[in-house]
Amino acid sequence: MIKINGSEGEGGGQVLRTSASLSLVTGQSFQITDIRGKREKPGMMRQHVTSIEAACAISESTCEGLDIGTSEITFRPGAVKAGNYNFAVGTAGSTNLVLQTVLPPLLFADGPSHITLEGGTHNMMAPPYDFIERSFLPIINRMGPTVSARLVRHGFYPRGGGKIEIDITPSPLTRIESLDRGALRSVKGTAMFAGLPFEIAEREVKAARKVLGWDEDAIGVRELPEDQGPGNILLLEAEYDQVTEIVSGFGKLGLKAERLAKTAANRMKGYMESEAFAGPYLADQLLVPFALAGGGSFTTVKPSQHARTGADIIERFTGRKFEFDQQESGVFVVRSST
Ligand code: AMP
Repeated sequence: MIKINGSEGEGGGQVLRTSASLSLVTGQSFQITDIRGKREKPGMMRQHVTSIEAACAISESTCEGLDIGTSEITFRPGAVKAGNYNFAVGTAGSTNLVLQTVLPPLLFADGPSHITLEGGTHNMMAPPYDFIERSFLPIINRMGPTVSARLVRHGFYPRGGGKIEIDITPSPLTRIESLDRGALRSVKGTAMFAGLPFEIAEREVKAARKVLGWDEDAIGVRELPEDQGPGNILLLEAEYDQVTEIVSGFGKLGLKAERLAKTAANRMKGYMESEAFAGPYLADQLLVPFALAGGGSFTTVKPSQHARTGADIIERFTGRKFEFDQQESGVFVVRSST
């Protein structure tokens, strides 16, 4: 039984999700205490409960203590079964984080799976759907499997109601070397909104263009049906030969459109000025697949606390270590080794 202290390192939901994913892949039980111990409201929220319920539903696993607010569970993994699954977070909690939990085990399942996920699709502190579709999944597909995603309906906090569908055809994960991002192919951005004044999106476009200097038609405005709102997100996207980086700015009450756009644009500028393959979020999300592929390496900007904590959890379950070596150019090479 692997014992995890959920408040160590980054101390968020990722510790729990990564543990559940790796428990299913490696067949090792775990007990986690102090779940999300470093978060403002510690313990399991609805979306974390759904993630663990989903992990149980795709396998014959059992979980003791699973409930909203719980800070300790004991998870005993069973055999993972491919199939058709439907998981509803029940709130605006992130569908993409539920996917993050069940995808690694389903990549090792005995056949293809189809998953429908309902809840939030564009949530703060979670990967937005676009990031999963165009930044994360292309790398997984390069490693062997075929995973495709479809957005059926947008879901923003607090209303939720979003829906995504994922098709997974497993294949052994092969090691890849992702040191270079290749040449820049295109840049684009979208200020997406629903049930809010049009001028919010226009102000975001203007502020982002001011920082990035992108062409006038590179960043557009997209209005979604009012019943999918209220909601607002600015997505900035840079497509390179080998990788696409998507930076997002999430609209929220009290945060000025200009400020949100300026922060997101500065992040994109920082990434584009570096030579790194992966931005900070992609880097922490690539650790599990790279460890399960048995090696490989990629370059990234400064590794986040999420990445360092993820690496510690991965080592507990798989024995695989990650090295983070800073290069003269400033980028870090992240290498998985035994
Ligand atoms: P946690 O905060 O521990 O629940 O983990 C959040 C997860 O969401 C991590 O895997 C982050 O990489 C991911 N994430 C958070 N914000 C973004 C974002 N703006 N774009 C992509 N991924 C994100």
